[in-house]
Amino acid sequence: MKLKENRLEAFIERCRQEGLKITPQRIAVYEILLGSKSHPTVEEIYEEVKKRYPFVSLATVYRTVETLEQVGLAKKVCYWGSSARYDANTDDHHHIICVGCGAIRDIYIDRNLDIPPEVDGFRISGYSVNVYGLCPDCRQKAQPST
Ligand SMILES: [Zn+2]
Ligand SMILES: [Zn+2]
Repeated sequence: MKLKENRLEAFIERCRQEGLKITPQRIAVYEILLGSKSHPTVEEIYEEVKKRYPFVSLATVYRTVETLEQVGLAKKVCYWGSSARYDANTDDHHHIICVGCGAIRDIYIDRNLDIPPEVDGFRISGYSVNVYGLCPDCRQKAQPST
């Protein structure tokens, strides 16, 4: 992953190009997403931004996350329940998802999946694997108390 400062600069540059105002709230949205490993929903990002900027609106956070996605600085990871989860780690990586609580973590698998360059007429641009399981917390909770 590129240095955080570089990525912030890239974001500011893209906001300029998109004609979006660069506000401290917008910067905070990206900073929070960059600093998070939990793949938050827009609502979760909003709750964090609100701690710093109590008057920020959910619409601003939505718009900012959408812009991040459009310019390739954030990725929609998957839907868990009804909310999309976002990731500022745009490197190729895979996810391990807890079926108990929905926690999502990055995993890097060495194994090459050997995906051909073309599948069913699709030209392949990338792939990502979701691995499901129970996280340590949920495993502990699932254990019968003695
Ligand atoms: Zn869990
Ligand atoms: Zn991730």
